[in-house]
Amino acid sequence: MGLYNIIDKYLLLPVGDMLYGSSVHTRLKEFRAFDHFDREQISVLQNQKLQRLVQHCYINVPYYKALFDRLNIKPEDIQTKEDLSILPVLTKQIIRDNFNDLLASNINPKNAIKCSTGGSTGTPLQFCKDRSEWSGQKAATLRAWEWYGLHLGDKIFSLGGNSIVKKKKRFSYKNIYDTMIMRNFKHSSADVSDEGMSQHYESLMQLKPKAIRGYGSSLYIFARYIERFNLPVCPITVVLTTGEVLVPEYRRKLEQVFQAPVFDEYGAGDGGILSHECKEKKGLHIEESLCLIEITDKNGSFLPDGYIGYVTTTDLENYVFPFLRYQVGDMAYIDPSPCPCGRKTIRLGEVLGRAGRLIYNKQGVPISPTMLPIMLYPDLNYHKLENQELYNKIDRFQIRQDKLGDIQILLKMKDKINEDYSKYDFIRSNYVKHFIGSEVTLLFVDSIPTLPSGKEDYCVSEYFAF
Ligand SMILES: [Zn+2]
Repeated sequence: MGLYNIIDKYLLLPVGDMLYGSSVHTRLKEFRAFDHFDREQISVLQNQKLQRLVQHCYINVPYYKALFDRLNIKPEDIQTKEDLSILPVLTKQIIRDNFNDLLASNINPKNAIKCSTGGSTGTPLQFCKDRSEWSGQKAATLRAWEWYGLHLGDKIFSLGGNSIVKKKKRFSYKNIYDTMIMRNFKHSSADVSDEGMSQHYESLMQLKPKAIRGYGSSLYIFARYIERFNLPVCPITVVLTTGEVLVPEYRRKLEQVFQAPVFDEYGAGDGGILSHECKEKKGLHIEESLCLIEITDKNGSFLPDGYIGYVTTTDLENYVFPFLRYQVGDMAYIDPSPCPCGRKTIRLGEVLGRAGRLIYNKQGVPISPTMLPIMLYPDLNYHKLENQELYNKIDRFQIRQDKLGDIQILLKMKDKINEDYSKYDFIRSNYVKHFIGSEVTLLFVDSIPTLPSGKEDYCVSEYFAF
């Protein structure tokens, strides 16, 4: 470790905690220890935190007091994760309708941080976070970065939309915290033009960071820019992706251009979800001391490990605006196999993304979002070699499903192509096989539409099969 790492760890972070009223420094030690917990220790800790939270909800949160009384539930009835199933799920609509009643009455307003989601599924959701929860999330993330050899004080170059690059005053405390303590230098991915990318490239080369972090799609565009102009890149230890479902092709390109491993993170501010890939890259280890995750059907019935369902979370640290059994809107499944890294936390095998973005065939069968790029991309033994050259000309893609269940495949090419577009008809045929009865159209576009949050999603659907 360098001198800055030592100063940051022993001086800047503790002082920052003191000034901001946070506890990242002490909690970091807690998360390092948690890495060695066995299943029994994890369950004991989760159940203790759950019982305390449920008691608090019943005494101090009007929404839960009314709900428990209506269902004739006593806080003592909920001792373990399994007991939670007696509660109905909390939805975004319930939060919108009961915002004031979800605020705890005994909390110092100073501890409530007002937040909203980016609105990737439409209307942003307003909620509050607990200041102490922020410390836990930061510490857990820092500890995961240590898995990859990245330490507090190492410089990070970030590129993304508004969930990681918030507008702040240059000399605000938060900005100083980010640059001096976290050493996270943030850049907005709003401008994806060559000019915008050229500025980012200059910043990157000036900063010489140890890590690059951001939305998979933003970093992919950046990597493509670097590749196209054959630009040299400073040595990078690790690439960290967050905020979107990471497409396998994006991961491959990032690893190739930055010559560094890519590790993915999945989190949701609403619901306190946080999970990280370990070096084995066999799914995402859930930060189980922060959140208690169940995979359920839409109505909240528990689904066994391995089944794809709704991510339903209980935020174990938010006492200001408690989330009990909150359906965040993402689909995923639990991988019950032990991870070779030895950590005993449970893993999300794969996050399939927003429930609203699942694409169905006309028989009502959902097609896994991970299948969609496999139908398009060549690196998975799926396609013939002679198509390789044509594939290499594709920059980005998006699969859209309209209200009637028909499919559009949007392709943005790297450069204007001279050849006959009909050469790409085989792509259409790949999809037709899976979308029986749907009209499948191939469209060549100048830009891929982004979501209101600035994020890019490779599948967008307005069709609901049920
Ligand atoms: Zn692992």
